[in-house]
Amino acid sequence: MLDKVVIANRGEIALRILRACKELGIKTVAVHSTADRDLKHVLLADESICIGKPAATESYLDIPRIIAAAEVTDAVAIHPGYGFLSENAEFSEIVEKSGFIFIGPKAETIRMMGDKVEAIKAMKKAGVPCVPGSDGPLGSDEKQNAAIAKRIGYPIIIKAAGGGGGRGMRVVYSEDELHTSIDLTRTEAGSFFGNDIVYMEKYLENPRHVEVQVLSDGQGGAIHLGERDCSMQRRHQKVVEEAPAPGITEDMRRNIGERCTRACIEINYRGAGTFEFLYENGEFYFIEMNTRIQVEHPVTEMVTGIDLIKEQLRIAAGQPLSFSQEQVKLTGHAIECRINAEDAETFIPSPGRINRFHPPGGMGIRWDSHVYAGYSVPPYYDSMIGKLITYGENRDIAIARMKNALSELVIDGIKTNVPLQEKIMQDENFQFGGANIHYLEKKLGM
Ligand code: ADP
Repeated sequence: MLDKVVIANRGEIALRILRACKELGIKTVAVHSTADRDLKHVLLADESICIGKPAATESYLDIPRIIAAAEVTDAVAIHPGYGFLSENAEFSEIVEKSGFIFIGPKAETIRMMGDKVEAIKAMKKAGVPCVPGSDGPLGSDEKQNAAIAKRIGYPIIIKAAGGGGGRGMRVVYSEDELHTSIDLTRTEAGSFFGNDIVYMEKYLENPRHVEVQVLSDGQGGAIHLGERDCSMQRRHQKVVEEAPAPGITEDMRRNIGERCTRACIEINYRGAGTFEFLYENGEFYFIEMNTRIQVEHPVTEMVTGIDLIKEQLRIAAGQPLSFSQEQVKLTGHAIECRINAEDAETFIPSPGRINRFHPPGGMGIRWDSHVYAGYSVPPYYDSMIGKLITYGENRDIAIARMKNALSELVIDGIKTNVPLQEKIMQDENFQFGGANIHYLEKKLGM
């Protein structure tokens, strides 16, 4: 097993990684900014090092400081969590060149998946279903572009190959707007992502977001752990996630899962990963692969009983997968509500001191969070302060437990989105299951 791991992240995921390390007997190093001295995992880690100022660029995104922390503590590996440097190919490369293990895929894999045109090419080759599209970058020939759009059929969407975070996309409904839209997206892509390559896809009007979790050991072993539905979104940010996805049959799951695991073997994928799909009229369409652990990983853990972070650590230690596809059994249903420090109606962030705090409990309740009474939520980072996860033998029970748990959760002193989550749990269409990615924004009148 690994001897000592640097946790290059903060908040709930840093605590989640620390807990998994402790269970496996791995020593931990917390690196943190000056604003994060009181984070729960910093207080619990074997060693902690302050690496800089609150601004992420001067701490959590500062590669030399993280490498230096690994060096002075004699750590052997670095876990990037999600966000920050987790999908930064250069970071992965520097970590490995400096003699440490990067807990994630190889730099070349991250680089390939970070370029959506390349990612789609690799996925198509491996037999993963993709959205009908331009099959590569768009050129500057207007006639040719118009012909591609006509073949795909309007509406279409122009996307930046280097895009991320829901930016660098433009929907086009007719040929009149096509050329200006391509030019605008290209210009934006160049300035946002330093890469002005754009491509075209069919715009799916009412899809759901369904994603497949995989684990691959980089030694020829790959398995999938079923899917999650993350269609409850606001501004492309997931708000509620669940596993399994309503209405996905055993056969559909096996089929799409096998395609994903085959792709992992083909590209020699190493670590935990997620294949994101849009799902419409019974068909899956690949949109991108996330080469890291995701926020919503706990719902998969609840229905499979498999600890994904421990598996990441085992894979990083060079161990082959310890179980086979046949041993992965899905039981029951799990739902996750992201709890954010923000106004439930205006979505304006609400940092500050938590005066009173009380977590929910009882059967099937999981609370993944770093907050405690007296903790101050700093204004510098993402507003997510915890994840409330419920499990039940079926979806109705998981929802009933979530309603209870939300009503028990006390976080006083700052505003949270708990009222919004309660509204979603009471919503008839959510309760029915299978709402599409536009549903939440429509409900909110956006
Ligand atoms: P990012 O990396 O910025 O998150 P994605 O490719 O994952 O970009 O797309 C983000 C979101 O944009 C999707 O979840 C979906 O809501 C929307 N989207 C992307 N491609 C399409 C498409 N072909 N049809 C409809 N919506 C799309």
